[in-house]
Amino acid sequence: MEYITKGIILDKKEKGEDSEFIIFTEDLGKIYGQAVSARKITSKLASHLEPASFSQLRLIKKSFKDDFKIADALSEARKTDAETIKILEFANQMTPLLQPDQSLFAFLKEIIKNKSLVYSQRTIYDQRPTYGQRTTSGQEAICGWQKKILKILGFDPNEAACDFCSSRDIAYFSSQDIMFLCRLCQKKSGLPEEKLLSL
Ligand SMILES: [Zn+2]
Repeated sequence: MEYITKGIILDKKEKGEDSEFIIFTEDLGKIYGQAVSARKITSKLASHLEPASFSQLRLIKKSFKDDFKIADALSEARKTDAETIKILEFANQMTPLLQPDQSLFAFLKEIIKNKSLVYSQRTIYDQRPTYGQRTTSGQEAICGWQKKILKILGFDPNEAACDFCSSRDIAYFSSQDIMFLCRLCQKKSGLPEEKLLSL
């Protein structure tokens, strides 16, 4: 089978001579894709498969149990600031294999392709001129990406409560345990802050 799809390169691992890529594709959801000898051939392909790229892909899968082989890739955009990398890491942690999600794909695509989006720690701003309301700084706050992604994935922080004490004043999300925590219960639980997503 051959698949033509767009994809966002979430991660890359070297496996001997070969490289394995974790790609969130538009049509297939998250997949593992092999590029044979991507390092050896100072390959045309490799430069289009750098993490945080948005690329057009041609994938081949010979049989059900085979991995996807990346036959072709053409990068359209790439964004490698620290905040984008964090967003892609979190998307990777939160997505199962082979489960397409058009909303998440559209959100990640916008992050990588729209150069006017800038980040502060918890908020994404759009610097494009708008005709409606603006903040005093002239930037429009879109949202905190953490809450936005959680909402897209069906864990709406506005509806959530702390898993321990049911407080609505949530401060963290654990992607490992899929649970929300308030500030107090995070301290009591001893879960290290750096392993949690701060909301
Ligand atoms: Zn609590």
